[in-house]
Amino acid sequence: MALRDIIGQEKALKILFGTLRRDRVPSTVLLSGDAGIGKMRSAVNYAKAVNCPSPVEDDCCDRCASCRKTDTGVHPDVATLLPEEGEIKIDAVRRLEEALSLKPFEGRRKVVIVDDADAMNLNAANAFLKTLEEPPRDSLILLVASNPDGLPDTIRSRCTTVRFYPLPDEECRRVLSGAVEAGALDAVLRLSMGRPGLALSRDLAAERAWFLKLLGSMVQGDAREVWEDKNAIKAWLDQAILFLRDRVVFSVTGSGSDLLYGADPASPLPDSAPLGGRGGGSAGEQADRFLAADFDAYRQLLSLRGLLDFNLNKSISWNYVAQIMRALMAHSC
Ligand SMILES: [Zn+2]
Repeated sequence: MALRDIIGQEKALKILFGTLRRDRVPSTVLLSGDAGIGKMRSAVNYAKAVNCPSPVEDDCCDRCASCRKTDTGVHPDVATLLPEEGEIKIDAVRRLEEALSLKPFEGRRKVVIVDDADAMNLNAANAFLKTLEEPPRDSLILLVASNPDGLPDTIRSRCTTVRFYPLPDEECRRVLSGAVEAGALDAVLRLSMGRPGLALSRDLAAERAWFLKLLGSMVQGDAREVWEDKNAIKAWLDQAILFLRDRVVFSVTGSGSDLLYGADPASPLPDSAPLGGRGGGSAGEQADRFLAADFDAYRQLLSLRGLLDFNLNKSISWNYVAQIMRALMAHSC
């Protein structure tokens, strides 16, 4: 694939192609935006375009040895840095500095792509700042971040920022079709919410089934199946937040067409959870009460989600969430 093959990011591509056309490639670019919308692919293909010896209309040729080596991760002038155990530490930044200090072997520039750059811890960020202040000649640093606010201002202000946005439905469908089974395409499309990369790297339909299964156990007071670990709690709460969003949307619109969870036949809950036998047709006052309860639960889960980086006890968290969800289900059924 080449840079021009990235779908649904015309604005970002226009900026990147502009720098290539004018031969004004900056020393540091921050590619920011939600996870799963093409930032990393764009970074890799931008690196290919910068170093390709036979570019085609400012883009890479996607066929030469240089392009192929970058694609397979063996180009001597292109390095990728990833978080280890959720963090980018100072040692990794030192390795990056070392890589950049050498002259390019065969390309025009030494390129380092830092994925999840916002996972840099404070020491790493401070060390990295020094590199940004005096970038080595012929170097290009590409920072990829879904939460750019997690980077210090001092770093962000030294980058050329290129923003990426979630894809419109039709373009998301173009990315997903072929990669997702036709029968599941509509459901996966709704769940990916414009972030097709999420659907390609994870099985969203299976996550939804897993969420509903645990919710069922939870509501029935069965605590044998708690979450496996902190990542599972995070993933489950992300789903719970979408699920509550559905309930609120249904309360307000009374229509099932925009729901992510919809009337899921796999739901273990009576009446299919989000619909719960209420919604558009219910008397105003009662509907308002349901809506307030949904918002309340939504807020509580969101704040619990924010606390997960601290060491929360798994079974206390389970009981806490179970209490919220049981109260909610009892109201609505
Ligand atoms: Zn090439």
